[in-house]
Amino acid sequence: MKNEMYIEFSSVSENESFARVTIGSFVAQLDPTMDELTEIKTVVSEAVTNAIIHGYNNEPNHKVAISCMLYEDEIELIIRDEGIGIENVDEAREPLYTSKPELERSGMGFTIIENFMDSVEVVSHTGKGTTVYMKKQLLKSKTVRN
Ligand code: ATP
Ligand code: MG
Repeated sequence: MKNEMYIEFSSVSENESFARVTIGSFVAQLDPTMDELTEIKTVVSEAVTNAIIHGYNNEPNHKVAISCMLYEDEIELIIRDEGIGIENVDEAREPLYTSKPELERSGMGFTIIENFMDSVEVVSHTGKGTTVYMKKQLLKSKTVRN
């Protein structure tokens, strides 16, 4: 492992952009491409939003935690809540599935996360919470550029 960090913050929507920017600036030291950086930040937004609006039903007095590990050319992200959990993870991961159509969610969060990361594992227990484990290999095209 090259570097690692851990943050924990309140489940308020203001912290979606905080998490996005914080993880973005941490992974920047691996010199990702602009596309990779955008993808990583998008994934953080999606998973943190899910934790807040689904896991905690928008209640502000809970915590969302993110661990981020950096390797030579790979990043690992773990985003965790201790909210209501997901009854059927396979169903939740299907494109267009949403349990909150009334909020005009499109049900595409997990699909976006899967498209932007190389591996995504969702571990969830009803009443206990949800942890999303993700890995992404970076192109490291900079060695080719020089
Ligand atoms: P969108 O992300 O497009 O706004 P969405 O959040 O409903 O819509 P996904 O992000 O794909 O879609 O999530 C699918 C479903 O999985 C959610 O509707 C919700 O039922 C469940 N879910 C996802 N993350 C969590 C979580 N952290 N805790 C509890 N349920 C979750
Ligand atoms: Mg979502």
